[in-house]
Amino acid sequence: MDDCIFCKIARGEIPARILFEDEALLCFADLNPAAPTHHLLIPKRHIASLFELGADDAPLAGRLLQKAGELARELGLAEEGARFVINAGRDGGQTVGHLHLHILGGRRLLWPPG
Ligand code: 5GP
Ligand code: ZN
Repeated sequence: MDDCIFCKIARGEIPARILFEDEALLCFADLNPAAPTHHLLIPKRHIASLFELGADDAPLAGRLLQKAGELARELGLAEEGARFVINAGRDGGQTVGHLHLHILGGRRLLWPPG
């Protein structure tokens, strides 16, 4: 989408600290980290939220989840643990309307979330 921040990052129109990229996925550092390690993993294709994922998107969703674990491991989080979060919609705390998975780690994270 033209005015979507994460689409702009995927197109290279807004700079980001990119950790990983393939034809379908992009992972970059969160601008406002909530933990010592905080990255966002997105599908390059604009999908507004998890609610908009269709049955046809199941392979993409599977790749997203698998890659999140792999990247977290590469970031050194596998031993101590990590948090993988997808906020969806207003009550879920989603502020950017392009599906993204947070990879958080590097400190003991609280549960339940606020
Ligand atoms: P949400 O609240 O929608 O689940 O998460 C959105 C995340 O995107 C937030 O953690 C926020 O810091 C991050 N973010 C917002 N704008 C930008 C940006 O322009 N660049 C990067 N790298 N992260 C952003
Ligand atoms: Zn988008």
